[in-house]
Amino acid sequence: MLNDELAAIFEEMADMEEIEGRKWQSIAYRKAAASISTAGGNLIDLYRSGRLRDIDGVGEAIEAKIRDYIEKGKIEKYDEMKARYPIDFASLRKLQGLGPKKIYALFTALGVKDIETLKAALNDHSISGLQGFGEKSEESLRKAVEVFEKYGANRRFLAEIYDEIQEIKKKLAKSSLFEDLEIAGSFRRMRETVGDIDILGISSNPEKGREFFTNLDDVAGIISSGPSKMTVRLKNGLTCDFRIFARDSFGAAMQYFTGSKEHNVQLREIAISKGMKLNEYGLYEGDRVKAGSDEATIYRALGLEWIEPELRENMGEIEAAGAKRLPRLVEYGSIRGDLHTHTVDTDGRNTLEQMVGAASASGLEYIAITNHSKGLKVAKGLTDEGFRSFNRKIDSMNEKSSIRIFKGVELEILKDGSLDLDDSTLQEMDFVLAALHQGVVGDANENTARVVKAIGSGKIHSLAHPTGRLIGSREAYRLNFERIFEACKENQVFIEINGYPERSDLPFDLVKKAREYGILFTLGSDSHSTKDLRNLHFATAIARRGWLDKESVVNTLNADHFTNLIRR
Ligand SMILES: [Zn+2]
Ligand SMILES: [Zn+2]
Repeated sequence: MLNDELAAIFEEMADMEEIEGRKWQSIAYRKAAASISTAGGNLIDLYRSGRLRDIDGVGEAIEAKIRDYIEKGKIEKYDEMKARYPIDFASLRKLQGLGPKKIYALFTALGVKDIETLKAALNDHSISGLQGFGEKSEESLRKAVEVFEKYGANRRFLAEIYDEIQEIKKKLAKSSLFEDLEIAGSFRRMRETVGDIDILGISSNPEKGREFFTNLDDVAGIISSGPSKMTVRLKNGLTCDFRIFARDSFGAAMQYFTGSKEHNVQLREIAISKGMKLNEYGLYEGDRVKAGSDEATIYRALGLEWIEPELRENMGEIEAAGAKRLPRLVEYGSIRGDLHTHTVDTDGRNTLEQMVGAASASGLEYIAITNHSKGLKVAKGLTDEGFRSFNRKIDSMNEKSSIRIFKGVELEILKDGSLDLDDSTLQEMDFVLAALHQGVVGDANENTARVVKAIGSGKIHSLAHPTGRLIGSREAYRLNFERIFEACKENQVFIEINGYPERSDLPFDLVKKAREYGILFTLGSDSHSTKDLRNLHFATAIARRGWLDKESVVNTLNADHFTNLIRR
């Protein structure tokens, strides 16, 4: 995206100006970069209508550079500076403790210009001997590189950092230095991965508030600090922006910093069309404040219903909010059962008793144990006979268990679309999830035919992790989802939303499409241990992001109603 490209260029120019000791230029570029990347307004449109200067921090000089970049594809001053500093600032700046001046010192002394050359310098211990560095900073740089290589350029799974961030919020709240607090950004939208954290607060004592925040155990170091915003590196490797607002602006700040960019662009256009102006401080008509302290009032003043954060992706939610046709999203607290779990009998780590105990302790009313079938050898899938004896174990546990246990299977869809267990075994099962794990080919038609045949068998209830993607390591299978959704609709087969973080499958945009076919969904944690049961919460988040109401999610039924629904 053009905004991001230009913001990155201005960030680098700020770094290079800083090296050359031109503090004010550096600050100006930094400011322009920040407002270009967060404002999100389409630069091309602003450029065409001659309104680039409307962007905060864009004056004559920066406007000229944006124009050059759009018209000629380059900025002369940037190219000229880059020739002097052929350094990958963007990556190196992500390392804790490395500012432009230190980067430049490493560059002149040791030729460090990116992560690779830095690693080489670390390997031959040449950094500790440099002036301004030392044993300690060499060691902390080594750690920083490790963190960067693990996560740096990538985003982190929401599930992985969720509790920790909630904990930070609690600590801040307990300080009684803040009247209100909110974690905004993609965290609030419950996106399955997050790139950084945005914390907003109201405080009558901002100085103290900031000091308290930076002294938290979770904060590894300060990246930058100014009166309205401070940026820190958290110990978990994420960057975190912390901003303090006045009560009057807090709703506007929540709206602005929750995003998404695309949603906000659309909202600002609506404001303009009504002769108003929306920014992180409020909604204004001329000099008059229309709304600011409360998010819902801002939406209302724009003629819209308040929109749940999970929906803010500019995927039709604004139009629906205008027509008062937003869905009533399924609530996190409405989920009564988990419909995808494993035990130690296949590739899980906990026993049936432990899984049931943990599910009961977490407040669930029922759980389906869906171990793998024999075709999945890497997971020690059970044979027909194996399932028969496992099912007897479930029967006897059901007699004393406080929650209902359903006999399930995660059944292999074989190469020709046939199923991995005998009909007589399948008839014993309460809940059959079918899954594609092996033999997937590059041809969408072939893969789709396999899945559609399984759906049409009359023997499966739900299709597990339909796309097969593993975030960060495997692309989605090639499949024709229109045909799959049609087949599900026709055969009354459900679609799973798998909450295992790497899977997060079906992805929310496909959930939204599937919803239009009137298909029902089953949520599953795909637990391989008791601690994975929490994935159900994140499956629910995907359901909400995919516009699902309570009626579309099978897991909201009580155990008896669920039993009736799956009976064949
Ligand atoms: Zn699976
Ligand atoms: Zn599974």
